[in-house]
Amino acid sequence: MSNLRFSELGLSAEILKAVDKMGFEEASPIQTAAIPPIMAGEDIVGLSSTGSGKTAAFAIPMVEKIDPKMRKVQVLVLCPTRELAVQVAEEVAKISLFKRGVQAVPIFGGQSYDRQFRALESGVQIVIGTPGRVIDHIERGTLRLDALKMLVLDEADRMLDMGFREDIERVLMQVPTEHQTLFFSATMPRQIEELIRKYSRNPKRIKIEAVAQNAPQVDQVYFEVERRSKIEVLTRIIDINDFRYGIVFCSTKLMVDELDEHLHARGYATERLHGDISQAQRTRVMDKFRRRGFEFLIATDVAARGLDVDDLEVVFNFDLPNDAEDYTHRIGRTGRAGKSGRAFTFVSGRELYSLQNMIRYGKLKIRREKIPSLDLVEEARENQFFEKLRTTLDAAEYRKQDRLIDRLLEQGYASTDIIAALIHVMHGGEGDKKSQPSPAEWVEPAGRKDGKKHEKFSSKPPKPAKQKQKYDRPARTGREAGFATLFFSAGRKQLVTPADIVGKIAGVTRLPAEVVGAIDIHQRHTLVDVRKDAAELIIEKVNGIRMRGDAVRVTMAEPGQMG
Ligand code: ADP
Ligand code: MG
Repeated sequence: MSNLRFSELGLSAEILKAVDKMGFEEASPIQTAAIPPIMAGEDIVGLSSTGSGKTAAFAIPMVEKIDPKMRKVQVLVLCPTRELAVQVAEEVAKISLFKRGVQAVPIFGGQSYDRQFRALESGVQIVIGTPGRVIDHIERGTLRLDALKMLVLDEADRMLDMGFREDIERVLMQVPTEHQTLFFSATMPRQIEELIRKYSRNPKRIKIEAVAQNAPQVDQVYFEVERRSKIEVLTRIIDINDFRYGIVFCSTKLMVDELDEHLHARGYATERLHGDISQAQRTRVMDKFRRRGFEFLIATDVAARGLDVDDLEVVFNFDLPNDAEDYTHRIGRTGRAGKSGRAFTFVSGRELYSLQNMIRYGKLKIRREKIPSLDLVEEARENQFFEKLRTTLDAAEYRKQDRLIDRLLEQGYASTDIIAALIHVMHGGEGDKKSQPSPAEWVEPAGRKDGKKHEKFSSKPPKPAKQKQKYDRPARTGREAGFATLFFSAGRKQLVTPADIVGKIAGVTRLPAEVVGAIDIHQRHTLVDVRKDAAELIIEKVNGIRMRGDAVRVTMAEPGQMG
């Protein structure tokens, strides 16, 4: 079935005007297929992938069918999270913009009851809420469903995943028998089938195959990456593509915390979301992310559930998702509404087999690529810098520096040399993350350790003398030739770990972890061996930064402090 125009769906002039104002040109496949039967009063089960426009598929006919003169709750929408409830309410508000008297309210846990009582008493026709809070209001008698015409279960699969089955059933049992039930979901687990059998009458099933729909175009790539190189590879990909807006999925809370800290230290604007983060903080982070208040959200699957953001440039599977379904759900957040998106998946070791299984059984289209080389990173940085300069020149958005330039020229310097020196100074200065000093040549090739060189590297400065596992070094400092010992004013008492030290140094200086040698943690201080030629930079960058909450002083260790 080809997509219809909204004007072919038998909708009122008010709705057509609103949809036009929302910028929708034609109905999406799920909208084309679901709107007419819902208008006709049928129960439906609508199955289509994330981002395919399910909200409007039920919200448009729902608004049409409401009697604006009757000030009673006529439609109840259940959503898995407060964020989704708010988003659905916003979409409903847009759709009903030109329909006088239609009112919708989101209700969810965490919001004050007073406010919700008032909203419910004011005669709203549409209530959009999370199952727990909805049940609460039903049982208090503050939400009456005797006039209910339509019940919508949005993201039914996610609600069941989140353990709302009992709450949902309690709601389903409370509603009057004469009503329309609509199920919307991206997947159809068995539990949903059971609910449908129990609580709906011979529903019309609409399934939009991912291929047939205006499928989000996501360019999908995977890399084989050694676990310890993942962060390096991640930042390379971000820098090469100059990504500014995306999600990085990790499998554990711990990994989320660690990655957040590392990326933050490297100058990326990141925030994190996982199960241990308070609801208030969660809402704050999500709002900020939607407003593009930072670049990368680091999250676990559970925490990112229900987060509906559009226009992500990129999704990273820093850790492999559990199955093809989770994979699809994750990457569905990029490349929405016809725009193309990117997805990168990291696999290390045996995970490759899991991924291959997912690709086979989930019919995924992910191609393997080689880890981008450092040359590419350099080239990309150079291009970005070039573009920046060119735009500045073209726009003439700079102050003429005639006096300074004349002085330099008078001294006999060539203009090309002056420019080269300037660029050098700029790159050595503070700058933003994209134009920081590039210790790129120093970085270990990410990937195999079998001795085969598969990337081109400059040989200077010489490779670090030791290739020890990062966090597993002898705790005897001051021994290794070519290393200097630094004094850090924090130790066991402050719960400092070798990982903190290496993480901070690598993060803030962007030098490879290998510049750090032995680490010797004492009660109130720590001695850290670092490569001599990196010592100054490390002191400059790390001195004064916070570690475990305290500002740490970093100096060259005096002979008396060692031993
Ligand atoms: P789903 O619930 O299926 O995950 P949404 O309803 O959240 O998807 O829609 C995803 C995005 O697509 C939203 O930004 C929405 O505004 C947009 N959208 C929905 N329908 C259309 C349409 N017919 N044309 C253009 N954009 C649409
Ligand atoms: Mg949805």
